[in-house]
Amino acid sequence: MPYPVVRLKPREGRRLRAGAPWVFSNEVAMTAETKALQPGGLVHAVGDDGREFGTFCFNPRSLIALRRFSPAPDAAIDADFFATRLARALKLREAFYDAPFYRLAHAEGDGLPGLTIDRFAETVVVQVTTAGMEALEAEMLAGLDAALAPVNMVLRNDTPARALEGLGSHVRAAKGEMPSRLALDENGTRYFADLARGQKTGWYFDQRENRAFMAALAKGKSVLDAYCYAGGFAVLAAKAGAREVVALDSSAPALALAEEAAAANKVSARTRMVKADVFVELERLAAARETFDIVIADPPPFVKAKKDLETGAKAYRKLARLAASVTAPGGFLLVASCSHNMPADRFASECALGILRTGREAALLRQAGAAPDHPVHPMLPETGYLKALVYALD
Ligand code: SAH
Repeated sequence: MPYPVVRLKPREGRRLRAGAPWVFSNEVAMTAETKALQPGGLVHAVGDDGREFGTFCFNPRSLIALRRFSPAPDAAIDADFFATRLARALKLREAFYDAPFYRLAHAEGDGLPGLTIDRFAETVVVQVTTAGMEALEAEMLAGLDAALAPVNMVLRNDTPARALEGLGSHVRAAKGEMPSRLALDENGTRYFADLARGQKTGWYFDQRENRAFMAALAKGKSVLDAYCYAGGFAVLAAKAGAREVVALDSSAPALALAEEAAAANKVSARTRMVKADVFVELERLAAARETFDIVIADPPPFVKAKKDLETGAKAYRKLARLAASVTAPGGFLLVASCSHNMPADRFASECALGILRTGREAALLRQAGAAPDHPVHPMLPETGYLKALVYALD
């Protein structure tokens, strides 16, 4: 059965015509019929010139009104469709990683708008963020089961982004059970994630390469891991031979996971987890003239919405300044931002201003993003949210 047709306004859809999989709501001819369509339903998008753009999900209430599933009109978006896309996503991860722990599906980057899946061996954690994907949940889960046959499929549908699409919040096991604690391997190191209560899907796979880069500098050095969560940077640095690692976080459950990881990797004696507010602790360390050879600052997003850009930018500048002031002479500093709404060039200039305020000379060694299990659609560079900058300080 053909899907309802949604038309673009005259001369609209510039990015779509160039290959992007999105149409914004102001580009859509919002007729009474179009407005009455069920949010999240499948439609066929057509230009005012009659050009056919294929099968999309439509949400008249969302800023991104149309998200493409297939360039073919009236394509069946069923369990087979999801199984095929997920098999392709799986093959890509297997090209990079031996161990079955990674982001398996990264939304538009894998041709799966509104879907994020993190894999922890036999358990997958699924996050649905659009009304379109929510409406296809049964087909998507069937396709996932066909492509991977995981023992446990956990739906972690409690991200705030769902509210923008008019979706509610719930966490449940769609198959099997919800393991309370999971072990994972990354960079040859054992970590723990708490799926039900942990942050995001339980683990931040995006920093994998950046953790390895910093750990490679750590042998014999002192390391400060600010915003350590479950110990991603800290434990790897300790395992790579750091003399002493101090890890800071404001969350006691996160620090408990980090401590467990340190113990599992037999580096507890060289790691110290401290419950503290990072800004307060950095001010204290700076005042006490305490320094570390390697400093890592990977905070939660400071720019949650576009309107927070200026306040968030100031916070990144301040963080870079304080982090630089506790970096020892000849040391290395990583500052990261996971804010979608913080442009990479602005982030780099705020970090530079903050670091140079300390009067230190700095060289930018590495400008990295997320690991390759977080692919980006080439026409949506703005969805590449993670920025990690590594500096050498004099
Ligand atoms: N670096 C981590 C991910 C950090 S996520 C990794 O590699 O996995 C951000 C972390 O910052 C969370 O664990 C959160 O608990 C912590 N956090 C948020 N606000 C904080 C604050 N003001 N002081 C210290 N930690 C904070």
